[in-house]
Amino acid sequence: MNDLDKLFEAARAVRERAYAPYSDFLVGAALRTPDGTVFTGCNVENASYPVSVCAEGGAVSAMVAAGYREIAEAVVIGDAALCTPCGMCRQRLKEFGMPELVVHVADLNGIRRSFTMDELLPAAFELEDKSNNRKD
Ligand SMILES: [Zn+2]
Repeated sequence: MNDLDKLFEAARAVRERAYAPYSDFLVGAALRTPDGTVFTGCNVENASYPVSVCAEGGAVSAMVAAGYREIAEAVVIGDAALCTPCGMCRQRLKEFGMPELVVHVADLNGIRRSFTMDELLPAAFELEDKSNNRKD
């Protein structure tokens, strides 16, 4: 199993843990750091809908909490034709994505499309110097 297959399987597995009683739309995300460490997240809904957290948000939080700051590759999986990250999550991924980050969008059968961050979020909002936010 190659790295991308492992990332897909991690996203598919965590998707099964999603808490989505309101939408019944389960999403999983898996992020790989440059050293090969994988972090995952699933969507967690709330009766107060805006409180809900996307799968990508959970994965990014887990990664940052573990001391990592860079995403080399990502898989997002949902049971939809094309479960691309929402606008907020595109910005989340951009913050920590390496320049060559590719975000693979999958359904339950496999990866459907792959996007660079420039394709997902052209002209992204960025402060000029992120060095204060990064861990060396
Ligand atoms: Zn999102």
